Formats: sequence, C-alpha cells, structure tokens
Amino acid sequence: MKTRYLLILFILTLSATGTTFAEFDKKKPAQPNGNKADRKLVVVTIDGLRWQEVFAGADQLLINHKDYVTNQEHLTQTFWAQTERERKEKLLPFFWHTLIPQGAIIGNRNNGSTISVANPWYFSYPGYSEIFTGIVDEDINSNKKVNNPHVTFVEWLNNKPSYEQKNAVFGSWDVFPYIFNTKRSKLHVNAGFSSAQDYPLSPKVKWLNELQQEIPSPWHNVRFDAFTYRYAKDYLTTVKPKLLVIALGETDDFAHDGKYDQYLYAANRSDKIIEDLWLTLQAMPDYKDNTNLLIITDHGRGSTPANWQHHASQRSLKGYMKGLKHFPDGIVGSEHIWFAALGPDIKAQGEVKTSRELTQQQFAATALKLLGESPTLFNPKAAKEIKEVLK
Ligand SMILES: [Zn+2]
Repeated sequence: MKTRYLLILFILTLSATGTTFAEFDKKKPAQPNGNKADRKLVVVTIDGLRWQEVFAGADQLLINHKDYVTNQEHLTQTFWAQTERERKEKLLPFFWHTLIPQGAIIGNRNNGSTISVANPWYFSYPGYSEIFTGIVDEDINSNKKVNNPHVTFVEWLNNKPSYEQKNAVFGSWDVFPYIFNTKRSKLHVNAGFSSAQDYPLSPKVKWLNELQQEIPSPWHNVRFDAFTYRYAKDYLTTVKPKLLVIALGETDDFAHDGKYDQYLYAANRSDKIIEDLWLTLQAMPDYKDNTNLLIITDHGRGSTPANWQHHASQRSLKGYMKGLKHFPDGIVGSEHIWFAALGPDIKAQGEVKTSRELTQQQFAATALKLLGESPTLFNPKAAKEIKEVLK
C-alpha cells in the first residue's frame, strides 16, 4: 500500500510539472543536436501542386466540374467542406495539423506571402534546375533529356567527405537523371521505372523491383509515387544518407490529364507520404530532432477551369510550349509556387508573410545553410537563402 501511495504521489508530482511518463522518456533527445556538421536534410518536391489547393483545399469551381471529375459524390464527400480551413485540412491533414504549425510555409498570395519561379519558362526541367542549382539559365528551356551543364548542390555536397557519396535522389519522372547529370555527378538517382540497385537490397525492395515491372503506369515516363517513396524509404533506412531528395510526380500528370479528382487524391497521398517520412525520420536515432525537411514545387498552374491543367509562360509559347499557343498570354499565374519547411533549424511560425516576392532559386542556399554549408563556396552566383524561415 505504501509503495502504491508513493507511486501515486510521484505521478502527481510529474503531472504538476507538466510531465507525464510518456513524455518523460521523450524529453531527453528532444533537445536538437547543436552540431550542424551532423545535420541531415530531406527535400521533397511535389510536381505542379498549386498554391491554391495547398492554402484553400479543393477548388469550388473544379470539384463539381463534369469535364474534370468522374465520381463527384465521392470526391465531394472526401474533400469538400464549407470553410477554407476545413477544406485544406481535409486535403492535406499532415501539413495543416503538424508541419505548418510546427514549421513554416510561404506562398499564400491571399495573405501577403509570395514566392515565384525566377526562370522565364514555368515548367518542370527549368524549375527543378532552378531549385537544385540556385541559379537561372535561360537556355534550360525544355523538358528534353539533356544533361544539365550546371552542378546541383546535391552533387556538390556528395563529393565532400562527410557526405560519403551517399546523397540520393528518388523521382517519379524519368528526366531526373539528366537534371542531376548522373553521367558527370555519379549521384545515386533512381527515377522513372528504375529498379533499386547499387546498395545492399532488402528482400522487401527486391519484391518492389518485381512489382514495379508488373504494375502498369498511366504514363510512359512517370511512375506512381508509391514506388518512388518506397524506394526512397528503403534507401534512407538502409544507407542513411545525410541528404535525400524525393521528387513526387502524380499531381502534375493527373492535372495534365484533366482529372481533378485524381489530382486531389494524389495531393492527399503526397501528404500521407510526407507524414510517414517524418515519422520514419523521428524513429531513427541519428535523424530524430536532427533533420530539416524542405518541401517545394517546380511550378504553379492556371487558376481557372479553362487553364488549370496547364503551366507555361507567354515566352515559352514560341518554343517548347508552342502546343499551348491558344492561350496567347501563356498560363497566367503559373509562375506562382509555395515552399514549406520543418525541423530543428526552422522558426515555428506557420504562415509567413513576405515583404517581397521570394524566388525558387533561393532554395539551394537555404538547403546549404541548413546543412551548415556555404552557398558562396557552392556557387557565388547562387541566390541568397530564404532567411524568413530560418532560426
Ligand atoms: Zn512539373
């Protein structure tokens, strides 16, 4: 009896100081590791996911549109609600319940928060090149499988001793080996329909290799994001890289196909992938409270039922995007993007108001700063970091 009494007293004391047994265990490692040399970084890109859905959820003009939605009842039940707040939480629950309150997000143009691509084209290859090189080269003006003449920060870091040549990129689109110029960089890039290879493969990932050959994709050049994520997760937990990039693609391809229902389901799956990724990182001792997560998109899209499927600048209509010249102004607003961050070096502030238009090319310097590396040494021409989100 006496022991039980003491135990109850002990629990009451802990409760009074705001600590429970469950938290007691977690408290110690919750202190972020102060040594930046040990920091890890994970980058996730979600291809062509509009800021409109990120900040307001399903679009009223599209969710019931006969041309773009097959089963309106199911889609409405899943993603519609009266208020913007409910709609965005239904679409991206991990973003709005965890990632954004504990981290930061930029790009809500209805709330004085603005970020755009700096390249003049507003489509994928130029966008990814801008994200990972920190500069704009106007000659990067197509999505063709051409090796990027510029060095990405992923390649630059990979050759530093502390990165042990373990940096890796997992992408759904088969152009990533060219964007990261694997011929020159020798980076581990698994994209398109590549199998896992070049590291000790678990039985699970060998099975995934077989499955990928057997399951059809709606697209000849893009696989389902489930494969990309499962490959990335296996590599993360097996090889343990300091820097990992995961490039999701379904949102863009379903949008191009004019399937707003599938676009929303894909956005929702991307949110679930990011949640699983974050929980996985927090369950790995070297990564827990020691990993920053950055999320960005390569371009925006149109804002009306007539043009939401597309993205292209007016200038690009004379070249790679000539198929869209029935939109003589290009796809207005498709330069507008969003950017989110979470981790020990990110100021927890939710939606961040900006005093100017931030740009996509600032991403590289931001990533480097989070790893304690010098953007100037990487490339003196790289745009400055996004200070607004950093501690
Ligand atoms: Zn894209």
